[in-house]
Amino acid sequence: MPAEYFGKSAEELRALAASLGEPAYRGAQIYHALYAERRFSFSEMTNLPAALRARLAEHARITLPRVVRRYPSADGSIRYLLALENDAAKPAPIPSGPARIEAVFMPSEGRQTICISTQAGCAVDCHFCLTAQLGLVRNLTAGEIVGQVVVALEENRMQLAPQTNVVLMGQGEPLLNYEPVMAAVRILLDHGGVGLSAKHVTLSTSGIVPGIERLAQEKVRPKLAVSLNASSDEQRDALMPINRKYPLAVLLEACRRYPLRPWEHLTFEYVLLGGVNDAEDDARRVVRLLSNLRAKVNLIPWNPGELPYRAPAQENVERFREILTEKGVPAFVRLSRGQDVFAACGQLASIETAGPLSASSAPPPG
Ligand code: SF4
Repeated sequence: MPAEYFGKSAEELRALAASLGEPAYRGAQIYHALYAERRFSFSEMTNLPAALRARLAEHARITLPRVVRRYPSADGSIRYLLALENDAAKPAPIPSGPARIEAVFMPSEGRQTICISTQAGCAVDCHFCLTAQLGLVRNLTAGEIVGQVVVALEENRMQLAPQTNVVLMGQGEPLLNYEPVMAAVRILLDHGGVGLSAKHVTLSTSGIVPGIERLAQEKVRPKLAVSLNASSDEQRDALMPINRKYPLAVLLEACRRYPLRPWEHLTFEYVLLGGVNDAEDDARRVVRLLSNLRAKVNLIPWNPGELPYRAPAQENVERFREILTEKGVPAFVRLSRGQDVFAACGQLASIETAGPLSASSAPPPG
């Protein structure tokens, strides 16, 4: 069976070249062609001799996530439903066919932000998240994670802005698929690879403390965001059962020990759920929780949908933001993009599992 080359590091590609009896530097040339030049067929790798290109076409393959459907939003963002077809990565037969994931391309002034998935489905079970309802289908490989970025860039190549941001905030808990996620991050952040800046790549976690501690040791790492969503253990236990394993005191202690680079701060995401976690007292408790942390908070007002929560009142959102900023915690209100085309992670995959549905006849996003 041909060896999969996409997602391999420079070192792995050098070893694969050597295994074909080629000089190791051919591996570095393939690495450059794959990630820096985004050439996805060996015949297009004109930096290689024709005979080698022909041998690679026989012995190797390049597999990218396949776009199943595009959901363009009125706000300019495009959500992609992607199928993962790399059979070698499947631990067991999946009855429903290839795993399905989502990625989102969000253009804005001077940059684009690409939101990618790190697992198909998720085992963490946050109660406000549709992906949780899928359960964990499987972990993604490094190639499937990098592949979402390059597919989104290629799909939009005619309208790319100079800066690309990547957020690991789609389906899955990145720190529960640690090795492939970090292998992908190294390719994304490598100057000779995809070439993104560490300042522009953010990994978001539900609060997996051993993963945060491990990430702290990495030489090459993205920025870290923590999905907070509650102001007390009681509240967080009810919304995010992972909190019983890593309660707030333990999580925030790990955050305090996290070695921030001079330019860096931690980001805390806080989904504001009407009547659940959006009171003034919640805001004051969040200020106390985040004391002594170089942090900012992204407030994300909930969009009503099929889950049993309601949107926060506009004045509560504004008051929450004011209390945080008055007490020295920078806070920003973020509206999720693509609200008219299934804005919640997991929504596309669950809809497609239930059966095809056009964007225009869809239920309101959750
Ligand atoms: S919010 Fe993230 S960690 Fe929580 S269930 Fe959804 S995908 Fe998993």
